[in-house]
Amino acid sequence: MHEVIMGYQGEMSLKGLNRNQFESALMKILRYRLKTVGQFKIYCAQSTFYMEPEEEGIDMDLAFERVSKVFGLAAVSRSVVCEKDFDTICRTAEEYLGESLRGIRTFKVEARRADKTFPMTSPELMRELGAYLLGKHNYLRVDVRQPQFKVIVEIRDHGAYIHGPKVPGEGGLPVGTSGRALNMLSGGIDSPVAAYRMAKRGLGLDHIHFASPPYTSERAKLKVKALAQLTSVYTGSCNLFVVPYTRPQEYIRDNAPAMLFTVLMRRSMMRIANIIAKKQGCEALITGESLAQVASQTVKAIQCTDAAQDLPILRPLIGMDKTEIIETSRHINTFETSILPYEDCCTIFTPPHPKIRPELAEILEAEAQMPELAALEAEAAQQTERIRIRMDDVVDFE
Ligand code: ATP
Ligand code: MG
Repeated sequence: MHEVIMGYQGEMSLKGLNRNQFESALMKILRYRLKTVGQFKIYCAQSTFYMEPEEEGIDMDLAFERVSKVFGLAAVSRSVVCEKDFDTICRTAEEYLGESLRGIRTFKVEARRADKTFPMTSPELMRELGAYLLGKHNYLRVDVRQPQFKVIVEIRDHGAYIHGPKVPGEGGLPVGTSGRALNMLSGGIDSPVAAYRMAKRGLGLDHIHFASPPYTSERAKLKVKALAQLTSVYTGSCNLFVVPYTRPQEYIRDNAPAMLFTVLMRRSMMRIANIIAKKQGCEALITGESLAQVASQTVKAIQCTDAAQDLPILRPLIGMDKTEIIETSRHINTFETSILPYEDCCTIFTPPHPKIRPELAEILEAEAQMPELAALEAEAAQQTERIRIRMDDVVDFE
């Protein structure tokens, strides 16, 4: 039997933008994701992407798992292709899906006929194939409303495709079709989820992480690398920029009112992120901030942070509860790594009573008292390390 993976397009249109552009972007991504799994022929016809293995021994489970995490596909299925001939369709359906029909009580056949030259109509094909399968499994009955299993036949240009129920895909838009952004990645639960959410809307990503050794450890940095690695099955391969942030951070601690420390530090981080983003052609910054989760995430604090630099800051989690964020974090398999206890530069030097409603005027005034900060930030940006995150590398962190 000749098994193929089929990917069904989701929301791929955007007013004024070319559908072909989305399709070729998605095709390129699928090629890239399957490259290390095996040799596949990949093409798109009738709004469906076909991935046909071209060599023996390909791990189709792995290929299917990879494809089902690609943004832009609303649904995916594994099917077999056979000749567009009724008897062959019956035999193939039984051979491929017979096992799934054992041990259940109700099923239905769905047929779609894109190739109108096929001699049977869709209702005829449903009825006849249904009767054939009932003959093979006499304990079964047809339930058109709530069947336990669906046998789907699609008569397309290149052959008859037979499969079980489609599996929901990730939806969203192909990564890269909405531009590029720089995600601020801590070691926490929120920021990998933020990366996932924005990649889903078609943003290509790099990550930036601020490290303050010796206050933060090498292990903490490796944990962040592992998180970038885990999310790369959704975002694709990317860069992780690690900023040596110790000196600017100590300088702020030593020269600013303690209660304004956190907001001043976050503004400083945004300015450095802005430098790296522009170098990388990123048009926005992303954070995992969620309204009122901590003192730096109040509306007033966000106003002060936003005013530090000129790129838009995207905050996809702003209206999400922690439980919802955790749900997504489990879905993308970052939760268990995120909760490993390592220090983050955002939680060192934090004052016991940060100001919850800082005014921009007092923030600017505090910054005016720190004449050397800009040079320290420029130096940190200059000394930033770039780590390449490749999707196929194994995550080796526990
Ligand atoms: P997270 O779970 O993502 O760590 P958090 O709830 O702990 O978030 P904060 O520590 O206030 O909240 O951080 C808010 C956001 O700032 C993070 O989601 C992340 O985008 C960014 N951030 C925090 N620390 C760092 C860091 N060390 N490097 C880069 N970005 C950071
Ligand atoms: Mg954090």
